[in-house]
Amino acid sequence: MSSGEVKKSGSCFLYYRDDILYRRFDEFFQKILTTNCLKILLWLCFTPISTSAQNVNLPYANKLNPMNVYWGDTHLHTKLSMDAFGFGNKALGPEEAYHFAKGETITTYGGMKVSLIRPLDFLIIADHAINMGVVNGVLERDPELLKYARGKRWLKLLEESIGLENIDAEKSINKFYEAIPDSEGEPLGNNAFQHSVWNKVTSLADEHNIPGQFTALIGYEWTSNFNLHRVVVFKDDAKKAQTIRPLAAYEDYDPEALWRFMDNYEVSTGGEVLAIPHNGNFSGGVMFALEDAKGSPLSTQYAKTRSRWEPLYEVTQIKGDTETHPVNSPNDAFADYETKAWERNSPASVESMRAEGYTDYQNWYDKRRRIQLNFDWMRQYEYARSALKLGLDQQKKLGVNPFKFGLVGGTDSHTSLATADDSNFWGIATRFGPSKSRIKSAGLSGWGMSSAGYTAVWAKENTREEIFNAMKRKEVYATTGPRIIVRIFGGWDYDKQDAFRPDLAHVGYAKGVPMGGDLAAAPRGKAPSFLISAVKDPDGANLDRVQLIKGWRSVGGELQEKIYNVSLSDNRKVDKAGEAEPVGSTVNIKDASYLNSIGDPQLAVVWEDPDFDPSELAFYYVRVLEIPTPRWTAYDAKYFKLKDIPEEVPMITQERAYTSPIWYSPK
Ligand SMILES: [Zn+2]
Ligand SMILES: [Zn+2]
Repeated sequence: MSSGEVKKSGSCFLYYRDDILYRRFDEFFQKILTTNCLKILLWLCFTPISTSAQNVNLPYANKLNPMNVYWGDTHLHTKLSMDAFGFGNKALGPEEAYHFAKGETITTYGGMKVSLIRPLDFLIIADHAINMGVVNGVLERDPELLKYARGKRWLKLLEESIGLENIDAEKSINKFYEAIPDSEGEPLGNNAFQHSVWNKVTSLADEHNIPGQFTALIGYEWTSNFNLHRVVVFKDDAKKAQTIRPLAAYEDYDPEALWRFMDNYEVSTGGEVLAIPHNGNFSGGVMFALEDAKGSPLSTQYAKTRSRWEPLYEVTQIKGDTETHPVNSPNDAFADYETKAWERNSPASVESMRAEGYTDYQNWYDKRRRIQLNFDWMRQYEYARSALKLGLDQQKKLGVNPFKFGLVGGTDSHTSLATADDSNFWGIATRFGPSKSRIKSAGLSGWGMSSAGYTAVWAKENTREEIFNAMKRKEVYATTGPRIIVRIFGGWDYDKQDAFRPDLAHVGYAKGVPMGGDLAAAPRGKAPSFLISAVKDPDGANLDRVQLIKGWRSVGGELQEKIYNVSLSDNRKVDKAGEAEPVGSTVNIKDASYLNSIGDPQLAVVWEDPDFDPSELAFYYVRVLEIPTPRWTAYDAKYFKLKDIPEEVPMITQERAYTSPIWYSPK
């Protein structure tokens, strides 16, 4: 666009839509055979088949086991979140977010029409509990808010902020935060106001929840300092959820307070709830710290409580990917993935916590102050893989693993748009949506943003109950956006041929446990084997490889990890050291395009652990890598015809899926 603006015509179905369509046709003609093969494979692997002799006695096999994969975003903000509103999302509330997730066209800022090419199956809207809906309430002159002097002051400043919007965006935002300097402090309003917002939010979720078609799980975000953020998810309908009002972190910054709140909710309503932490990378080494907020070492009770309420961790989202970090995993060639958002956001919150006088966190604060600007020591307490390893050590010490979590992905977008595609990337907030300039700044307002992620759920049907139950049993996995279909089963008796069976999933369940499950007490002389299948996103890139990532605690107490390349595309083989040649790249950065002329559409394997020691605690999860594809920055550069892009800006990505682990314990 010569104007440098995103196209605003009503016919613009999707940002970059033309590119997607072009690429799709291109692929279609080039790989028509592959595509047909893929469809057949998908059908064979994931459809109950009555012609198979083994399945004749299982006419309702799809009712016994979860045979469907459902896609969703577990973490989305709308204009009801104060920060979302402050960064320009003034028009799109939960209603619009649901319409967008369902594939309907909505109008976003600038009058542009947007939609998802492929709708989602479920959505969790998780607006911040702190001052939820308050900005809108003030501007709508809600009498419950304007009876406070603070409410009147906010109204004046908010109106000034809006008046500045088209004149000076920066000043407008500054004015907004001048209005709300204590946005994470004392709330504005009273119980009556908070209830009225929550009642609307939960009723809307009920309205948009259509069993069998689309699941709207009720949720909100508990946003504590030190970035100990959690998305709280309810299994229940509005009637039950409305018996409480969301607990906000200004009431107590300690996650243990949230768990008590959740316990009270379940006891008083008979409902069910879980919490999903996110962005350990922003927590300054506190997300998976081995001491509680009071500075005491973790106790057995703590471990029980945490694993009870937090069965999942959000491993990938716009503010970075937290599977692992090069400091934690120096031998992992693929470890340095979307970790740059953090580096521009060093722990400012430490200073602010100190200034606010939070003595409970003294221990964490002092520890960090001692180390000053060297953050490397923190990393192991921030990332998923190292936390899973720490969990094994805690299990040995306490008898319970506090960090026994499965993996999910969310956007954490504050735009109301649950999109995680690089070719359709709307940024963390409306202000950082498609523009000529966002690529040029670093960190979270620019190229440091990651276009991620989604959650895939293995469930019997698309209902609140089934999706929630799958999340609780960890039969879920994360992707950085692409809809890669992955299965992993662990057991003692998988046969190499099982990877080629059309009823792979039935064999998987019959002989072992799915992702999120447990193996215990190895039969004498046996090592665990894993039945793994990965299928490319039908509309996306081929696969490079399937890796099995093992973490374990040696008998001597050392925490170890190893990456096994268990299945490689293009007939590649691993060398003696277990390494493989890179898959190559077909990416044309200038054109923001790639070809599926390398990689494979499907990889399946049975792999047995060659280094198994039955006396060691261990976990295993799968990482699937796509072939390289253009990163969102390349789509931006092409669309806006940008030149002089800073060297440091990554233009190619290698997207991936992470399954929830399977754990092994000696007894
Ligand atoms: Zn958060
Ligand atoms: Zn959030």
